[in-house]
Amino acid sequence: MFDKILIANRGEIALRIVRACREMGIATVAVHSTADSDAMHVRMADESVCIGPPSSTDSYLSMPAIISACEITGAQAVHPGYGFLSENAGFAQMLEDHGITFIGPRAEHIRIMGDKITAKDTMKALGVPCVPGSDGGVDTVEDALKVAEDIGYPVIIKATAGGGGRGMKVATGPSDLEIAFRTARTEAKAAFGNPDVYIEKYLQKPRHIEIQVFGDGKGRAVHLGERDCSLQRRHQKVWEEAPGPVITAEERARIGKTCADACASIQYAGAGTIEFLYEDGEFYFIEMNTRLQVEHPVTELIYEVDLVRQQILVAAGYEMEFQQEDLHLRGHAIEVRLNAEKLPNFTPSPGTITQFHAPGGLGVRIDSALYDGYRIPPYYDSLIGKLIVFGRDRDEALARLSRCLGELIIDGVDTTVPLFAELVEDPDIQAGNYSIHWLEKWLAAKAAAGSAN
Ligand code: ADP
Repeated sequence: MFDKILIANRGEIALRIVRACREMGIATVAVHSTADSDAMHVRMADESVCIGPPSSTDSYLSMPAIISACEITGAQAVHPGYGFLSENAGFAQMLEDHGITFIGPRAEHIRIMGDKITAKDTMKALGVPCVPGSDGGVDTVEDALKVAEDIGYPVIIKATAGGGGRGMKVATGPSDLEIAFRTARTEAKAAFGNPDVYIEKYLQKPRHIEIQVFGDGKGRAVHLGERDCSLQRRHQKVWEEAPGPVITAEERARIGKTCADACASIQYAGAGTIEFLYEDGEFYFIEMNTRLQVEHPVTELIYEVDLVRQQILVAAGYEMEFQQEDLHLRGHAIEVRLNAEKLPNFTPSPGTITQFHAPGGLGVRIDSALYDGYRIPPYYDSLIGKLIVFGRDRDEALARLSRCLGELIIDGVDTTVPLFAELVEDPDIQAGNYSIHWLEKWLAAKAAAGSAN
């Protein structure tokens, strides 16, 4: 087993990884920018190394700085968390070349899944159902029109190199397809350095259902059910639950097995998430994330597993601690993402935390790097924590979430907490009756009602 792991991340996920390491008796190294000298992940780790100025390009994304930090501290492995370098195949490769273990899948798998056209082709060949669309990339407006004609409008144009909900354009008919196609290519080139796009049928009322998979890298893989992440704003998740409110045990077993088999056959190593849109009882693959997800705690709660611990075990060459038949879900978990953002426009709200009080009690988990007096720097993602609740069933989880939102105090900055306080009382949410478009519509209706007053 590793003696020492370097965590190439910050915030709540860096803490999450420190916690798993500490329970396993592994020493930890935090890296940080000059803006994060006082951050909780620096305080909690056994050692820390400053790797650069505030800009993440020069710190959390600087591969030479991180590799030097490993060499200085003698860290044998790197956990990348999510975001930053977690899905950078070149980084995984560079670590390997330096004799340092990347805690994640092989560079080859990161590369395949990082290019969405290749990912879709690969999944299709492995028997995973996909959204109807173009066969590979589409280079010209003429081809785009032909594909759209074949699959039927509306269609969505997506960047093969896309991520984080960016680089997608919807076209409702031939008249707006041309402009959508050209804008998508230009934006993809600017944002990702790769203009390649592909086209999919735009689904009208799907849910976002993703399957957690885990492989040992030697041809054995399991699934840990689904998460429903349909509540999104600008294609970004804000509320996640497991199990999905509308997924049956039969559906879970079927799609779960398809995903686990696909991972087994490519000898996938570690944690992964296969994302689907789900409509009228059908699953349609959209992408695979080759890393730990923000929302992994809901799965951990219902399956009683520590996914980070399993990632470390597999990366160190040990067996994962379960087989498919050991994995039984129980109860229901919900996560809400606490962002330092000002409603109603979700504008970033960095600043100093004057008071932080976390809720507690049965079935409550807070993953957050906040503390009293903490200064949230303006340079990074606005996620400041996650509130995760567990109940014996969905109703109990909702009641617990409502209770916890009442107890939670975050003063000094604006947060998304008031949004969740409203959502948890909404009849559609309580009934589990929502698609990926529900939240945008609800926010628009609220804004309209607000401006009418
Ligand atoms: P990213 O990598 O940027 O997160 P995804 O392919 O995972 O992109 O899509 C993000 C979100 O965009 C999905 O959860 C869904 O809300 C929406 N979306 C993607 N593809 C489609 C589609 N074919 N039809 C309708 N919505 C889609």
